[in-house]
Order: sequence, then structure tokens, then C-alpha cells
Amino acid sequence: MPKHIASGLKYLAAVELVRDGYSQKEISKALNMDRSTVSHYLHGRNLSLSSIEIAELIIKFNPRDFIVLTDAIVGDKEATKTIVKTCLDKKYSVEVKDTCIGCGVCVDICLIDAIMLDDLKAHIDTELCCGCLMCEEKCPTNSINIMEES
Ligand code: SF4
Ligand code: SF4
Repeated sequence: MPKHIASGLKYLAAVELVRDGYSQKEISKALNMDRSTVSHYLHGRNLSLSSIEIAELIIKFNPRDFIVLTDAIVGDKEATKTIVKTCLDKKYSVEVKDTCIGCGVCVDICLIDAIMLDDLKAHIDTELCCGCLMCEEKCPTNSINIMEES
């Protein structure tokens, strides 16, 4: 069943990517699928209705549950990043305070590699951040603020 739900999540992302003008070749790369599977999905083949319905429920979960579940079900970091970025319609602003000590805890915990260390300070890519708040909660110096943009 998880494989079917992964297919549903990839299908939803593929549909969004088509709307955004991506080619099938680009979609197959972004979701780590072969092109014929992408084509099948976009023509509604090889997918059960229930897998799409469950995937639609998952993308409506709070950001943390959405990303953790997607990561566990899809089992592929690059595809997970694409699904989360494509299906999440929220934007976040981020702040890393000067109290950051560069310990790297936040880097290790972010499932979508949105955080990098530079000069012993964390830097967060707002284009990737999905607002799961795991970094904010685990930072030992309370240096991270993630805020949903209105
Ligand atoms: S967990 Fe906190 S202190 Fe550590 S690198 Fe990240 S922001 Fe800096
Ligand atoms: S809130 Fe933090 S851990 Fe979550 S995606 Fe954004 S940067 Fe990564």
C-alpha cells in the first residue's frame, strides 16, 4: 500500500509541475521516475483512485506530518523535496539569530536539506523550507524563527 500512496503523491506533484510548464523529461528527473511512468500517470493509468485520495489527504496535513509521512512513504529525498515544494502552497520567512553557534543540529534534522552552514552560522533556503518547525524546536540556542507568510 505505501507504494501506491507514493504513486499518488508523485501523481499530484506531476500534475502541478505540468501546470507550471515542466516537460515530462523534467518531471521524470525531479520525481526520479522513468518517463513512461510519468506519461502513464498523467494519462490516469496505473493509478488507483484511492491512492490519489489518500495522497490528497496527506498533502493537507500540517507541514510536519506531510513531510515526515512523504519522506517515509516515498523513500527518496529528491522526490520528497519535489513533492513537498510542489504541493505545499504556503510560504515561510525565516530568521537565524546571531546566537547561532553553528552546531549543525538543524542541518541534520531538516528532511529536505533546506539548511546549510556557512561561517559557523545556519542559513535557511526559504524556497525549500516547508515550515515543519523541527529545526526551530531542536535548536539548542533558540536561534531559529520560522514564520508563515500571510
Ligand atoms: S541548531 Fe541552532 S545553533 Fe545549531 S546551527 Fe542550527 S541555528 Fe545554529
Ligand atoms: S522548518 Fe526547518 S527543518 Fe523544517 S523544512 Fe524549514 S528549515 Fe527544514
